[in-house]
Amino acid sequence: MYRVRQYMRYAILGDIHGNLEAFQAVLADIQSKGGVDGFWCLGDTVGYGPDPNECVRLVRSGGYLAVAGNHDLAAVGKIDIADFNPEAAEAAKWTNRQLSGENADYLSGLPERLVTGDFTMVHGSPRQPVWEYLLSAGVARENMRYFSTPYCLIGHSHVPLFFELEGERCYLRDFPEKSLLELGSNRLIINPGSVGQPRDGDRRASYLIYDEDKREIRHFRVPYDIAAAQKKMLAGGLPERLAERLSYGM
Ligand code: ZN
Repeated sequence: MYRVRQYMRYAILGDIHGNLEAFQAVLADIQSKGGVDGFWCLGDTVGYGPDPNECVRLVRSGGYLAVAGNHDLAAVGKIDIADFNPEAAEAAKWTNRQLSGENADYLSGLPERLVTGDFTMVHGSPRQPVWEYLLSAGVARENMRYFSTPYCLIGHSHVPLFFELEGERCYLRDFPEKSLLELGSNRLIINPGSVGQPRDGDRRASYLIYDEDKREIRHFRVPYDIAAAQKKMLAGGLPERLAERLSYGM
């Protein structure tokens, strides 16, 4: 007897931040590309945006493999919001009031770290899964010791990029739209950027598709109805600046 190995395709996404318009646009884009066999979510499904319940519902019903982000934990009172800036803290309290009991329980139960195949998944960094931002090669290099799989997936900074360990050196690499990252023997820390609040100057939603058969990851950007999301944020009483920043992708 032998088994035929079945190769899968996975969507890698995170930092949805309660932005249902952006999330739905990404899901439609994935469908238009033939769909995927599974979804990996890197945390911060809620916080900032006007539709936390709807976004959590989609993650739950889709059977996503998901880790907890700082905003998920803040919204359910599992971490202190004293470290948040005033607008983020206000949004966390707003989200806390909105969340259904079931959705709050789901977020409370998310792990900080998951391993699936060749990948470790965390929100911030492998060293500090909830809080640390990985935006420099030096800090990324230190973090290579804190996971044992070849590759690590992170969110948190809302900037699509990857870090590559080549021998002793670690490099920060741009990950432009439509470009392809081929998985080889170098260890990598990869960030898909943010679905619901991009901060790299491009206001479109950002995500990745991993093709297990070809061993490659491709980066996609998707336009969505930003005005509709902003309108809901202002109508719901969320801080104005959080709505405005969606227009700039910062
Ligand atoms: Zn975030």
